[in-house]
Amino acid sequence: MKIITLATTNPHKQQELIEILHEILDLGKKEIFVRTLAELSEEIRSQYNPQEIYPTLMQNAYAKAQNLYRLVRSPVLAEDSGLFVEALQGRPGVLSARYAASDEEKIVKLLAELRGLKNRRAVFATTLCFFDEHGHAIFFNGRIQGNIAEEAMGVGGFGYDPVFIPDGSSLSYAQMSKDKKNQISQRRRALELFGNYLKKFLQY
Ligand code: IMP
Repeated sequence: MKIITLATTNPHKQQELIEILHEILDLGKKEIFVRTLAELSEEIRSQYNPQEIYPTLMQNAYAKAQNLYRLVRSPVLAEDSGLFVEALQGRPGVLSARYAASDEEKIVKLLAELRGLKNRRAVFATTLCFFDEHGHAIFFNGRIQGNIAEEAMGVGGFGYDPVFIPDGSSLSYAQMSKDKKNQISQRRRALELFGNYLKKFLQY
């Protein structure tokens, strides 16, 4: 039995990661078990305190995975995501979590910065960092192109979902069912690569 601990405190990400991994890896039927921070002891949980201070998604994902690996000494999967807006020279990008205090304020600020601009192009990116049982790190990237909406659309999802319209859709992430978002998202694309890696190299 291989246990992978997810290094995220964000319940929305946790849910998406688990739902997608279930689908990709057929988890119920395999010798692999995914657990969250909530399933660790309070002592370990209280020591998980990664510094998300780095200039790239890769470095931040690594910091989270390394911090948790040092506590559990078994496989961990961490991720860092960001919304890169072309007209803002890539902002908020790696600083997407700290762009404003709440999700609502982030959206208000983003729409204000883009007001009147024709170029709404953006990329949502996720970098996963997996530490195997020996503490070796490997990365997987997922990206999806799209546009920033003129106004918030929909009530589902989290974060920037109400303003991100992926290419090929007229709906924002927040207007889609969670299954639909999970089929196409940047997180899904990164997890597909992770799933292929597990299947190929770990031969589970
Ligand atoms: P971080 O990866 O936790 O640093 O998250 C970066 C920021 O992007 C946070 O504000 C998240 O709420 C937001 N975010 C991450 N993934 C998604 C997503 O799939 N949809 C919308 N917002 C997201």
